[in-house]
Amino acid sequence: MTALQSRRQVLSGALAAAAVNSLLPIKLARAATPALDGVRLWPGESPDGRRFSGAFNYMTRKTPEFRAECSTAQGVSNAVKWARDQGRDFAIHSTGHCFAGHSMHERLVIGTSSLKEIRPRPDSNRITVGPGAFIGNAYLKLASSRQALGGGSYYSVGMAGLTLGGGIGFRSRKSGLLCDQLESLTMVDANGRIVRASETENSDLFWACRGGSGGSFGIVTQMTFRTAFVPLRQVIHVHIAASRNEAERIVHDWQYWSEAQGRGITTHLQVVRRKSHRYLIGLTGETEATNENAHRQVKALFGARTTIHPNWIVDYYSDRGLRLVKNADDVIEPYPILSKSDFIAKPMPREGIRSVFDAMEKTAPGHVQLTIEALGGAIDDVAPGATAYPHRGVAYVVEFRSNLSSIFTLAEHKNSLDLVKAAYAPYATGGVYVNYPYPTLENWAKAYWGDNLPRLMAVKRNWDPDNVFHHAQSVPLA
Ligand SMILES: Cc1cc2nc3c(=O)[nH]c(=O)nc-3n(C[C@H](O)[C@H](O)[C@H](O)COP(=O)(O)OP(=O)(O)OC[C@H]3O[C@@H](n4cnc5c(N)ncnc54)[C@H](O)[C@@H]3O)c2cc1C
Repeated sequence: MTALQSRRQVLSGALAAAAVNSLLPIKLARAATPALDGVRLWPGESPDGRRFSGAFNYMTRKTPEFRAECSTAQGVSNAVKWARDQGRDFAIHSTGHCFAGHSMHERLVIGTSSLKEIRPRPDSNRITVGPGAFIGNAYLKLASSRQALGGGSYYSVGMAGLTLGGGIGFRSRKSGLLCDQLESLTMVDANGRIVRASETENSDLFWACRGGSGGSFGIVTQMTFRTAFVPLRQVIHVHIAASRNEAERIVHDWQYWSEAQGRGITTHLQVVRRKSHRYLIGLTGETEATNENAHRQVKALFGARTTIHPNWIVDYYSDRGLRLVKNADDVIEPYPILSKSDFIAKPMPREGIRSVFDAMEKTAPGHVQLTIEALGGAIDDVAPGATAYPHRGVAYVVEFRSNLSSIFTLAEHKNSLDLVKAAYAPYATGGVYVNYPYPTLENWAKAYWGDNLPRLMAVKRNWDPDNVFHHAQSVPLA
């Protein structure tokens, strides 16, 4: 045997072994599982299994033994029945945006990413969507008929988790939460039955699905929402550098400015420290106004001396406007992040805002990103007990995020986040948005659902007494 031959043989032997190894899980999968109509069953390690099992937060990522990707409601039903027959624990996943990884599982994931059909019905002011559709794609499909749906502000967030937890977005002050616009849904329950829920059908389940969170009651296979005809709207996308004093003033004034501009405008304010006493401030959102009036509104916050570039406020329905709506890629890139949140009941006094900036100055530049999201308006037209989402009558929600870097330890990032969060604590309601969850939250069920918790647990006992649908922070039975 020549040296070359032996090298080839060793190589081909290794390749063959690798091929056998990579086929092994598929063979095992085939042996262990029957063919399920409407379900593709992949080993989590396979290319398809990986492609469909994305996690936005890299820190929560898990590769399941199997992914059961469902393409029909009947497929979801078959997957649930099969998992129950096998005694397999599982998580439900659509696009993997849950900050706390509640859609991740080591053993089995039932996936609804493929159920992503979007059917706008502008004539009846309705849209029907699958649970795996990106909210941004629903917006884009509605744009040609100048229809609007108020929901999340980030293109690739999935319709299922977003709606079931509430759904805060750039039209919330005008049209309420995404769950407030939900008219009906179809769900697979713990027995594998395909059921409908609306105000008039299974109304207890419908109540729970508006804020009660994903992964607790069943697997959503389709949702229908009310939409609105909005002939004129602008996308706001302003980014400026500011001194600490100026940043402090903007954050303070924004609290009153939001309310003063009326319901037609909803914005989020982003704050990041760049270096000592220097900040980046972003104002993103939407307004139902002419371009000229929108400029006037934004100037009222930033002051006459700040230049607002014409490209920062654009017609929503223009090419540039729609490009701003599509503010992320179709492929979900995982980032390692820490995230927490608080609701703030009413505008904070100047000294409160100052203490937030004092805390920011103690953190490394870029360590903590604040996203402050305006609430109020139409959200408060709904009583706290009318849906499972209880946080009505609240001025805004603050999301604290740290994008993890290799330069600092996890503990250092955590300390920074907690330092800034502590400055907000005297003004926080104690409630937490279930769609901005975090694993270390104490008394999480009370924080997420407040006084609605007993009723939610009763719905859970009625629809899922065996706790088939559960994760670390799903609605408890008792
Ligand atoms: C970058 C980013 C931007 C965000 N922006 C916003 C925002 O603007 N407004 C806002 O309100 N929230 C926002 N969120 C939070 C988001 O609403 C939640 O993470 C939400 O749970 C995501 O749902 P998903 O279906 O995309 O994610 P997944 O991680 O797939 O699922 C989230 C939860 O829903 C469950 N679930 C998934 N599919 C189904 C189904 N078919 N039936 C039943 N349960 C299901 C899962 O088990 C899990 O518990 C954002 C999150 C990220 C990461």
